[in-house]
Amino acid sequence: MSDAPSDIGFDGDRLLRRVAELARVGASAAGGVTREAWGPADLAARDLVAGWMVEAGLSPEVDAAANLIGRSPGRGGRWLATGSHLDTVVDGGTLDGAYGVVAAIEVAASLHDTGRVMEHGLLVAAFANEEGARGTSGMTGSHACVGLHADTPVEELDDDGVTVGERLRHAGGDPAALDHACWPLADVEAFVELHIEQGPVLDDTGRPIGVVSGITGRQGLDVVVHGAANHAGTTPMHLRHDALAAAAEIVLAIESLPRDGGVRVATCGHVAASPNVRNVIPGQVALGVELRDQDAAVLDAAMLGVDAMLARVAVARGVTVDARWGQRVPPVASDPAVVASVRRVAGAMGLAWIDLPSGAGHDAQIIGRVLPIGMIFVPSVGGVSHSPRERTDAADLLAGAEALLRTLLDLDGRSR
Ligand SMILES: [Zn+2]
Repeated sequence: MSDAPSDIGFDGDRLLRRVAELARVGASAAGGVTREAWGPADLAARDLVAGWMVEAGLSPEVDAAANLIGRSPGRGGRWLATGSHLDTVVDGGTLDGAYGVVAAIEVAASLHDTGRVMEHGLLVAAFANEEGARGTSGMTGSHACVGLHADTPVEELDDDGVTVGERLRHAGGDPAALDHACWPLADVEAFVELHIEQGPVLDDTGRPIGVVSGITGRQGLDVVVHGAANHAGTTPMHLRHDALAAAAEIVLAIESLPRDGGVRVATCGHVAASPNVRNVIPGQVALGVELRDQDAAVLDAAMLGVDAMLARVAVARGVTVDARWGQRVPPVASDPAVVASVRRVAGAMGLAWIDLPSGAGHDAQIIGRVLPIGMIFVPSVGGVSHSPRERTDAADLLAGAEALLRTLLDLDGRSR
């Protein structure tokens, strides 16, 4: 794919060079990168990218939510939006987010270099705090872009006891004026995000392009099992109320949900037993559970099933179980027109593709609550992400970026 037709001016070498240059901003000793949102490395990356935006003919600005937004007007009044995020998890990979931002700028640069003006204006976003720095909820920037900033309150405290609002202010944002960060929603045709898959499906099937059908919804659940702590030597087995043994049953029942036709994936990722001592029967156990599915009705049904299961375990084990369902991140379906466009483009480029849902959350999931969205995935070697070992073959990076460019041109030609 490196010898892309010159008619679209796509410069693959520049794209790869910039991905590598960005990887050095916040580079970690382990070979990954740490750019916690609003920290020095994140802001340095934002400055670097703002310079590239100018070169690509975009006018960059830092909005009230500390997003970096670059705009290049089209012939008409409507917009096509693309982009991703620059922040990373601690010791994360070099492609998660950064690739989608660099590719979006390459789209703008390709248009700029060939003197091509689309009917739609191009809006390129580098969203702030996608990952949820220092224990914050994350996706701060994308929420504000579609007017949903009330869902990510600026009063929220991070792990250092500093409010999100304070962090925003430090990063050049204005927590009191977040509504100014909202895009002209009625004039945005669609948002298309290019991202590495962060899972093994494309690598496993040997296809370079994933057409994302939708982004999985996420339902959290906190469970506390109350039993009775007692002496592990003197308490007969039939007189015990072992909170950890009950919790173990719950963990296995959660794990069996997808197998029994329930949600797509279910995980109990957090366990805290108390007193957590070898010679004491566990008296209390806290569990952190997460269910994910692309269908809200399936999540609803699974919640009812889990409530019934918890009640059964409580009776059978002689323990009490407190369950608190957390706030849901709703599933979002991709826009059929964007999906059709990505498939058409991949086919025309001779790239094998498959439809697949995104199991991970993305800024597109937030944008998609208000605007039509779509996503293009490229393979993650071995399905590894959020790790210094995160990798994608150069040929796949180039194919994905060119597919993004051609998808936006296709959408521009079809919707006026
Ligand atoms: Zn990401």
